[in-house]
Amino acid sequence: MIGGNLDILGYVFIALLGLLFFLREKYGRKKTETDLKNSIKKKQVEPYTLHPLIKTELCFGCAACVMECPEEGVMGLLSGKAILVKPNKCVGHGVCKDICPNEAIELVIGTKNLPIEIPNLTPHFETNVDGLYIVGELGGMGLIRNAVKQGMLAIEHAKAQLKSRNIDFVTDHDVVIVGAGPSGFSATLACKKEELNYLCLEQEEFGGAIRHYPRQKIVMSFPLEFPIVGKMTFRKNIVEKEEILERWNQVREKENLNILENHRFDSLEKKGNHFIIHTPNKSYTTKVAVIAMGVGGTPRKLGVEGENLEKISYRLIDAKNYTNQNIVVVGGGNSAAEAAASLSQPELGNKVVLVCRKDNLNKCNETNIDIASRKSKAGDLEIKYESIVESIDEDTITLNCDGTIEKIENHFIFVFAGSEKPFPFLRSLGVEIEKMYGTPLKEKSDVAV
Ligand SMILES: Cc1cc2nc3c(=O)[nH]c(=O)nc-3n(C[C@H](O)[C@H](O)[C@H](O)COP(=O)(O)OP(=O)(O)OC[C@H]3O[C@@H](n4cnc5c(N)ncnc54)[C@H](O)[C@@H]3O)c2cc1C
Ligand code: SF4
Repeated sequence: MIGGNLDILGYVFIALLGLLFFLREKYGRKKTETDLKNSIKKKQVEPYTLHPLIKTELCFGCAACVMECPEEGVMGLLSGKAILVKPNKCVGHGVCKDICPNEAIELVIGTKNLPIEIPNLTPHFETNVDGLYIVGELGGMGLIRNAVKQGMLAIEHAKAQLKSRNIDFVTDHDVVIVGAGPSGFSATLACKKEELNYLCLEQEEFGGAIRHYPRQKIVMSFPLEFPIVGKMTFRKNIVEKEEILERWNQVREKENLNILENHRFDSLEKKGNHFIIHTPNKSYTTKVAVIAMGVGGTPRKLGVEGENLEKISYRLIDAKNYTNQNIVVVGGGNSAAEAAASLSQPELGNKVVLVCRKDNLNKCNETNIDIASRKSKAGDLEIKYESIVESIDEDTITLNCDGTIEKIENHFIFVFAGSEKPFPFLRSLGVEIEKMYGTPLKEKSDVAV
């Protein structure tokens, strides 16, 4: 009798498992198919950064990559194979590659339709100019974790090179680092660890792009591994920008790092086997130069009359500084949508117009699209699609809204039109810049992500 019960329980268990598998297949696949159709319909099929290329012949559909991806719904399974369901939402974490048990994922950058230009770097982030390194986002990979890792790896390599090539001529420094964001901070710590004579030049304040995130922005980051400090973890990998900056500042003070703030790097010359780094007031000689400038240093301008007026800004730190104002936000990406959303909080009393060149906000993540459309429906935010800025004067901004000219009274304008990368300058130094058309970053990603 007992044996009979067990048999029945066993059958029920197997039947339940089968049902679960069937439901997961049916509804999981249905969701993936719907999401994929949406991506195609909204023309959101080109990834903007590093992304996975799935080798279908090696993928056996274990779904580990789908579950490990920190961006919800970016990857899915279709017919037992992994696919990129929302390609333009991929931000390049690269964890899918690490988790895949069958090496079925390669990380690539750019696509045939959306090639991306990046400097040609060795796996150790050295350019084709000996001793000149590029680390962090300027090298083509976004995210804090990648930047931190690259800063450290570049210095480890530079130290080994200096030693093996027996480079012992006299310069002011062994290493000059340009930029004190995540990659520059990590490079600076690595220099201290390797007992190199270094200097880090920062045109603004320590912290890089993080310092300019909106107040209390939630940052997603994996545990960060710094030289000297070791692993720096945050609760559930989610943290406010203020906490990151506070912890990094504590390290900076404790280690007494040689970072000069408000020191802008202007240019660089290669003289024989060393570099001369020029700032507006002083020049420094160095054996190794590490460019950790990120991509946000030079915001892209609109190029319209009146853009030099003081009411125009290219970043928003705290929306609470603006109350009862007429504000125009220009741009169609996440930064513009987030700025428009925070400025249009009803308690601030602002009248906010978001001006977007396209007929949609599809460049934004889903959260930002949802918030913008909810606010627009509630009348808290006006969105003008297919509109471009024609000119600006003291009290108004003139827009071309799909052929119709409109003048809007306004006090402040925030422009989020991307940024200019310093590629012409790098090319002038002889640095090769290559166009990536879905080109694998195999070697680089092995050490970088
Ligand atoms: C709004 C926003 C939200 C983001 N959210 C996240 C997130 O949640 N998680 C995540 O991992 N990543 C996030 N990122 C991306 C992340 O911030 C970047 O990938 C990272 O900061 C890149 O580090 P970096 O060191 O290469 O450059 P940056 O952080 O840009 O630092 C470069 C530094 O160089 C300095 N510099 C530039 N030019 C000069 C010059 N001529 N002379 C001297 N100094 C100079 C700059 O002032 C800056 O301090 C976000 C980015 C943005 C814009
Ligand atoms: S982890 Fe690898 S094998 Fe598993 S589904 Fe993803 S790509 Fe395929």
